[in-house]
Order: sequence, then C-alpha cells, then structure tokens
Amino acid sequence: GDFFRIKDLLEPEERQTLERIRSFLADKVEPTAGELWARSESPLHLVDAIRDLGITGIPGDAPGITARSPLLSGLISMEMARVDPSFATFYGVHSGLGMGSIRECGSDEQRQRWLPQMVEWRKIGAFGLTEPLVGSGTARGLLTTARRDGGEWVLNGEKRWIGNGTFADLVVIWARDEADGQVKGFVVEKGTPGFTARKLEGKIALRGVQNAHIVLDDVRVPEENRLQRADSFRDTARVLKVTRGGVAWQAIGCSIGAYEAARAYAVEREQFGKPIGSFQLIQDLLSRMLGNITASQAMAVRMAQLHAEGALSEAQAAMAKMFCTTRMRETVAWAREVFGGNGILLEYKAARFFADAEALYSYEGTRDMNSLIVGRAATGISAFV
Ligand code: FAD
Repeated sequence: GDFFRIKDLLEPEERQTLERIRSFLADKVEPTAGELWARSESPLHLVDAIRDLGITGIPGDAPGITARSPLLSGLISMEMARVDPSFATFYGVHSGLGMGSIRECGSDEQRQRWLPQMVEWRKIGAFGLTEPLVGSGTARGLLTTARRDGGEWVLNGEKRWIGNGTFADLVVIWARDEADGQVKGFVVEKGTPGFTARKLEGKIALRGVQNAHIVLDDVRVPEENRLQRADSFRDTARVLKVTRGGVAWQAIGCSIGAYEAARAYAVEREQFGKPIGSFQLIQDLLSRMLGNITASQAMAVRMAQLHAEGALSEAQAAMAKMFCTTRMRETVAWAREVFGGNGILLEYKAARFFADAEALYSYEGTRDMNSLIVGRAATGISAFV
C-alpha cells in the first residue's frame, strides 16, 4: 500500500514513531476490531494504551502537545484507518475535532485548562455541529441557540451524529448567539444539567464509533467555557479545514486496508486449479486499486506540505477530501469483489472496509459539499449559499 514509498519522506525519528504505532495497531486494535464492530462498541478499553503511546495530538504546538509534522499526522490517520476506520474515527474525533477546536478557537487559558488533560485522555472530547434538521447547511442554518445571561450562556437545541458523544467528558457545542446571530463554540462538560446524549442505533458503517443524538434543554455554561477565539462560523471552518484533510488520509487508509486484504486473498484462493490472483481480471482490479491509493497519497502528501508551510486553503483540503473518498469508494468495492461471496462476510475484513467507506464519504462535509467548495474556488461563484 505504499507503492511510491511516501514513508521515505519522513525523518528517521518520525519513521520510528510510525512503526511504533503500526505495532500497537497490529497488537491491540486489529485482534478485536471485527468483534467491536459487530457489537457496535467503542475501544474504550484501549484508552490507557493509547495514552502510553504518547502520540495524541494535532499538528503544530499547543500546551502539553509536542509539535508534529502534518505528514506524520496524516500517516498516523492513514495507518489507523488501514487497520480499523472505526478506531481512526474514535481517535480522530477526540484529537482532531475535540482538541482541534480548543487549540484553534480557545484562549491561552482555555488551552492550558483542557488540552494537557485531553492529551492524556483524562478527558475525552467530542464535536457537536450537525443537527437533526441541519447537516450540510450548518454554515447558515444552525438552529441551536445560545443566550447570554449574566456570566453564563443558556444553550437550547439538538445535535445529531456526534461521535464519542455518549461518553465524552467535553463536548464542543456550536450554537447561534441569539444577540448577534453568529455561530459560537461552547465546551459543555459531562453531567451538566439539561444535557442528554443517547446512542444512535442501527448503523451499517463505522459501528465501532458511538454517535449520539444530543438534546440541550436550558443547558447553562459559564462564559469561561465559551471558546474565546470563535466569533463566527469562519472559525468553525478553520477547525474543519484541518480535520477534512485528516479524513482524506483516513480514506487512503481504508482503501489500503481493503486492498491488502484483497491481495492476500487473491494469492491464496484458488479456482480452476490456480490462484485467482493469476487471472488477468483480478490483477487488473488490484492494479486499479493501487493506482487509486497512489494518486490519493500523492495529493495528500502535497496537502501536508502546504499545511506545514501554513499555505493550505479550504478548497485544497476540500479537494483532497472529495477526491480521496471518491477513489476509496471505488477501491473498497473492487476489494470486496475480489472476495466473491466472502466479500460480504465480516470475517473476511473487506466487508468492514466496504461498509465503513460509506460513513467516511458522507461525514465532515459530504463529497458533494466538498466538491462545491472546490467549485466555488474554481468559479468565484458559490453554488450553495
Ligand atoms: P444532508 O445535509 O441532509 O444532505 C443530504 C444529501 O443532500 C447529501 O447527499 C448532500 O451532499 C446533499 N446536499 C445537501 N445540500 C446540498 C447542496 N447545496 N448542493 C448539492 N447537494 C447537497 N457531525 C458532527 O457535528 N460531529 C460528529 O462527530 C459527526 N460524526 C459523524 C459520524 C458519522 C458516522 C456520520 C455519518 C456523520 C457524522 N456527523 C458528525 C455528521 C456529518 O457531518 C453529516 O452527516 C454531514 O455533514 C451531512 O449532513 P446530513 O447527514 O444532514 O445530510
């Protein structure tokens, strides 16, 4: 899955870190990924082990977080999704969306207060933007409201699909300020009266992630919990720009996981007295999968370089998310095809990647919305506002 050797671009020390993570994933995540998926459970039992890995964080520096290159961060997301997209999302919601919101939009004091605890997983984070009635249109249409009342804010509304939301200690809730109409971010702590979260049941993708339907009924949070550097949706979009780039890497990982499973099966499974991998049509599928993966990696590596230079645009991140998830959807379908009937059995792994791809395709902005962000950059005309 690394046909053009992108890992050679890492510094030697970074390569060691990635190797450590690969061992962790093989030893701790891989053995139970299928079972947790089937039971729809999150890998909370691994929190201590993840903390001990000492890698939790986001590119750039902030209190308690070691600076790390966007390329290494991307490759970490890729490796996680290669083994288990649910695990990658469980991890990414906490570190990218939860910690990322506080890092991008919190004051120095707020970063000091929360980030070091989050690095150590003593507090688990979540990100509440989507609502039952407002998904793609959150920039304009958020219905959840925030009303200032002296030194407090009162939040009312509903959120849907919030990853880790059922057990998170800190949920960043995005709400519209009734006074100025702007979107602001609020850190709601677990146990705050009026906050309830129930697990969404019946998912057919990323079943190892718990998504919550959250109700906010006169939830009071102090002004100290309002993210001080979030004044409008533009600030929310700054968080999403980075995490969308992360989803592009996850999509590559999901594709690689499926490709590797298909390749292994192709050389073992025999029909007509020969390994199916000796048939031209199967080899062609494998080549096309590898081509998709390699083209996506090339784009993602360049995205990481631009990010490192502080020059990554929203449209470039949207392009990566759009392109890599589209290629992934094709790739996982081909992988599942190589397995024939076994391709729809959980036991053979390709099925899990095939299903999980559907969630990656739609979250953090659907493929369509990311395409329209690119289209806006190309034409100067917005098709969606
Ligand atoms: P809708 O917005 O209703 O879209 C339906 C369809 O219409 C889509 O195909 C869409 O592309 C299309 N469409 C909408 N508007 C336009 C337009 N103007 N032009 C063309 N097509 C359009 N949200 C969070 O806040 N936090 C989370 O942690 C989180 N985790 C998630 C995890 C999973 C597994 C999933 C599935 C979702 C998660 N989400 C989360 C929500 C996710 O971001 C939304 O599902 C996504 O933004 C799409 O919104 P929607 O589902 O309401 O679809």
